[in-house]
Amino acid sequence: MTSFNDFGLAEPILRALAEEKYVTPTPIQAQTVPIVLQGRDVIGIAQTGTGKTAAFALPILNHIFTKRMRPERKSCRVLVLSPTRELSGQIADSFRAYGRHMRPLAIELAIGGVPINRQVRGMNHGVEVLVATPGRLLDLVNQRAVTLNQVEILVLDEADRMLDMGFINDIRKIVAMLRKQRQTLFFSATMPGEITKLADAMLTNPERVAVTPQASTVDRIEQRVILTDKAAKPALLVDVLKTETTDRVLVFSRTKHGADKIVRHLQKSGYGAEAIHGNKSQNQRERVLADFRNGKLRILIATDIAARGIDVDGVSHVINYDLPNIPESYVHRIGRTARAGADGIAISFCDHEEMAYLRDIQRMIRITIPSTDNRTGVRAESRPAEHHRPGGNGQNRPNRGRQQQRGHGSGNGSGGNRHNSGNGQPHRQNRGAQAGNGQNGQTPRAEAAQGGEPAGIGSVPFLKRGNEPRRNNAGHRAPR
Ligand code: AMP
Repeated sequence: MTSFNDFGLAEPILRALAEEKYVTPTPIQAQTVPIVLQGRDVIGIAQTGTGKTAAFALPILNHIFTKRMRPERKSCRVLVLSPTRELSGQIADSFRAYGRHMRPLAIELAIGGVPINRQVRGMNHGVEVLVATPGRLLDLVNQRAVTLNQVEILVLDEADRMLDMGFINDIRKIVAMLRKQRQTLFFSATMPGEITKLADAMLTNPERVAVTPQASTVDRIEQRVILTDKAAKPALLVDVLKTETTDRVLVFSRTKHGADKIVRHLQKSGYGAEAIHGNKSQNQRERVLADFRNGKLRILIATDIAARGIDVDGVSHVINYDLPNIPESYVHRIGRTARAGADGIAISFCDHEEMAYLRDIQRMIRITIPSTDNRTGVRAESRPAEHHRPGGNGQNRPNRGRQQQRGHGSGNGSGGNRHNSGNGQPHRQNRGAQAGNGQNGQTPRAEAAQGGEPAGIGSVPFLKRGNEPRRNNAGHRAPR
């Protein structure tokens, strides 16, 4: 499939795509759109950034266009469930953008953190598309503001995140309210056992499409680790910000409290920084995100949950102030950079207690991340065995992408002492050791991560959200 015209989509949709400057369908779109157009159920294994929203939104809009009917009061023809407010907003924006020449087309967003009354009013006459987070949707159903028995197409987006965030029971409740005769499109970046079970319960004879098992994002990102003392992390962050040429920096903290502490430290050091996390109001989160998007704010501190679904172009650096204890989160985090074919840089601070996390991450991504040792009082020889991998290729810069050390083999080599990840402190620069997992074989987990997916997936491009007119397209309810 080399052109959107080959799908047989309706003219108003093609016109919108031309305006969006989409020329070639992405792999997930090429695979998914024809199946959805046939009315079949789909399990799509794909991450945000692969073009998966259009993969479901385009054929859905085509269905609405070709099978016109007036939605019943308080009901929707298409229900899209997504785990976060941010992602839900982006999905609704995408529907508005691709459907901008379709009239009538009502798209409503039902998310928490904002007053419910507007959403109640918005649903009064029924809508074509409702994009919702599960909790708010159930609130609306309980208030009898929404009925779900007219849903023709259900989309479940980021199912694995739903599981992480504890939404699975809500999902089951919602699905039980839908009619059996419907089309279901199920997307997840990973397929842990519980998600497979959920998919089995929701889908009928689905077609499976897969473009990116979770490890593939990492190929295009320059990754570095700085081994450090825990107490030195605040100063190290400032050093990195001083010495790296950064544009937009996303700093990850494991806890909300930690995120606030980082903000305070950076502000004291003269850096404008703000945090988003679950304790912030929706308004605060939106304002901070808007500032980060438009460049007013250059440093954003986020927790994993708050960062989910954030889609901001031009993040030059992801800094893992704390390493995540779930390896998949590492991939999700660093995937926030290197969008739109841009290469990004991911720098992770790793203290003594986080060594095991680093090992798990490296096993999963099958890359030995070049490291610099900034720890005080630690000599190369005294490092834990798993970090005893001597250098190999003698280059001065960390290797990138596929050249990064995968799986087995010798280290990727400083061979010398210049894996300085920009701390600007010569006496602390790399002492010649490489972080490595010391494992030649692939662990069961790493194999699972590969999931038997097609080869060549590492080349699946990640796309950016451009300066599309959709962001300005506030009036989403087209006149009937
Ligand atoms: P998604 O994975 O759905 O979040 O999409 C990521 C970004 O890619 C969005 O900003 C889309 O606007 C953009 N995009 C999706 N499909 C295409 C395409 N075929 N060509 C160019 N950009 C695209």
